[in-house]
Amino acid sequence: MQSKLNLVEPRIAVKADAYVFDIDGTILVTRDLVHWNGLHKAMLEVYGVDTTIEGIPYHGKTDIGILRAALERCGIGGSAFERGLPEARAVICREVSAHATEILGDVCPAIPELLLELSASGKLLGIASGNLEIVGWHKVNAARVREFFSFGCFGDHSESRSEIFANAISEIKRRLGSDARACFIGDTPEDIRAARHVQAQIVAVSTGTYSRQELASLTPDGCCRSCTEMLGSLR
Ligand SMILES: [Mg+2]
Repeated sequence: MQSKLNLVEPRIAVKADAYVFDIDGTILVTRDLVHWNGLHKAMLEVYGVDTTIEGIPYHGKTDIGILRAALERCGIGGSAFERGLPEARAVICREVSAHATEILGDVCPAIPELLLELSASGKLLGIASGNLEIVGWHKVNAARVREFFSFGCFGDHSESRSEIFANAISEIKRRLGSDARACFIGDTPEDIRAARHVQAQIVAVSTGTYSRQELASLTPDGCCRSCTEMLGSLR
């Protein structure tokens, strides 16, 4: 017989001065092809290959990492990849900006409520995402939560999520002092690993593609099915 205790969800015991959110799978799940088409256009225009990111395990990867993986599959790597990168970034941003009003997303449960609660209690709120900056802010705008965030760290010049998270930590320390405590909120194993790498707290949320069990096995500080479970829990 299953003990009643096993059915009790563990409380999330996180205290932080700043909360830093991932975008895809954490703030919203997009249902459009705007970002996908931007990557396709960049590969076609800049590298001359008619390919897509289909089949690339892109969840948790940065935009540049996704582009690199898709192009390597077509035999384009190394210096040929690097040479085209500035132009490829520009094409992605141009395309996503031109179609920004077509970004359709399901905002993840309780995201507006959680952001309202955290900002009312004076927490610094930021974004840490592998998206290119322009792309990321367009998605945050589409989710109608832009006004909550004071800063964002993105993947324009970094393929490593740990580096993006380290930039977020620097920004938090610059604004709040060196003792400031940070907590990241993300939906992939990469978010958990990157937060550990920068010695920050992390609450994982299974509103993206990974299950709660998969995320919990990496022992984040908290693990939720959705941000609903975080309401009233983050101090
Ligand atoms: Mg994500």
